[in-house]
Amino acid sequence: MSNRAGIYIHIPFCASRCHYCNFATGGYEAELATRYVAALASEIRRCNLAASLRAADTIYFGGGTPTTLSITQFAEILDACRDVFDIAADSEITAEANPGSVSSNYLAGLRDLGVNRLSFGVQSFADDELSMIGRAHNAMEARNAVAEARAAGFDNVSIDLIAGLPEQKMDTWRRNIDEAFALDPDHLSVYLLELYRDAPLLHRIERGELRAIDEELTVDMYFDLVDEAARRGYEHYELSNWALPKKASRHNLKYWTGAPYSAFGVSAAGYDGESRWSNTRNLNEYLSRIEGGESPVAEREAIDEDMRQSEALFLGLRLKDGIDMDAHRARFGVDVAERYAPDLERLRRAGLVEMSDGRLRIARAGKVLANEVFSVFV
Ligand code: SF4
Repeated sequence: MSNRAGIYIHIPFCASRCHYCNFATGGYEAELATRYVAALASEIRRCNLAASLRAADTIYFGGGTPTTLSITQFAEILDACRDVFDIAADSEITAEANPGSVSSNYLAGLRDLGVNRLSFGVQSFADDELSMIGRAHNAMEARNAVAEARAAGFDNVSIDLIAGLPEQKMDTWRRNIDEAFALDPDHLSVYLLELYRDAPLLHRIERGELRAIDEELTVDMYFDLVDEAARRGYEHYELSNWALPKKASRHNLKYWTGAPYSAFGVSAAGYDGESRWSNTRNLNEYLSRIEGGESPVAEREAIDEDMRQSEALFLGLRLKDGIDMDAHRARFGVDVAERYAPDLERLRRAGLVEMSDGRLRIARAGKVLANEVFSVFV
């Protein structure tokens, strides 16, 4: 595992708003995007970097839809990163992208800038599901986007899907995962639908226009994928993520292993090993703070050794290999089996965790009840 940091860059623009989305994002406007990119470059150039953040080997453009930006705007942001950070030559540079928002020329332009990984927000391969959740693309555009990414030379392509959509049935879910695997993605992320209080999709369910599916079916969908991905040679390296060998997301692994990462842009959250901070979620406030020479940081929290210890447990348990209990004791002076003995025994009896070879891992049944396991360590 590298000891270099990551860099996260948030792009808060989308073609339209999906009906379940709770991210800090809004409609794309050219003038606003120009201002935003200038603000981002300025935030990066004047940041006061902790030593732990200076050397980096991953850059992740998330959003929002980063591919609403032009290639020139991507270049401006990457130039600022390269001026400020010591970026490793073999860095993983990811851009999230939405099918329908990228052309072959555009993808080739990203590749020329050094972007070497694409994460496509596909979510479903059924057009009726895509339109129900307000996605701006259809299934054919998703298939074309992946083919165009391959043609542009990307050998690291990820697909996101959502399981548990209203009205979804096991056979429609199976078709989604079959279609995803038919595209030979290097990486697959699957999220179970969660709806925040004001989500338009939730309102439609509450009005009786759509039927939420029951939890049991969502769990069956998850395990259906777990088994199918294993049959196809994908490693289930994190609770929601599958990858071909050597294609796990190096950037996201930093989050789960407690590595430091910088973060720039509206709502972006970073961690330098000592404290965690997040920028304002309000785009106008972000712009006026940066343009007025002020910091965009809205919250900062010092992380003490006790918090680091418990984070190492509940983040590490998300990973396939779980926690190496000897290494944990050496690093934090905490004997996990002893300190959490009654809870671990209860979870073990319930089939949610397992201990073997000196490691504590989430067991199969615990993968869909992970929050119950994590609550022990928070
Ligand atoms: S594309 Fe992603 S970030 Fe944009 S509105 Fe849809 S879910 Fe939200």
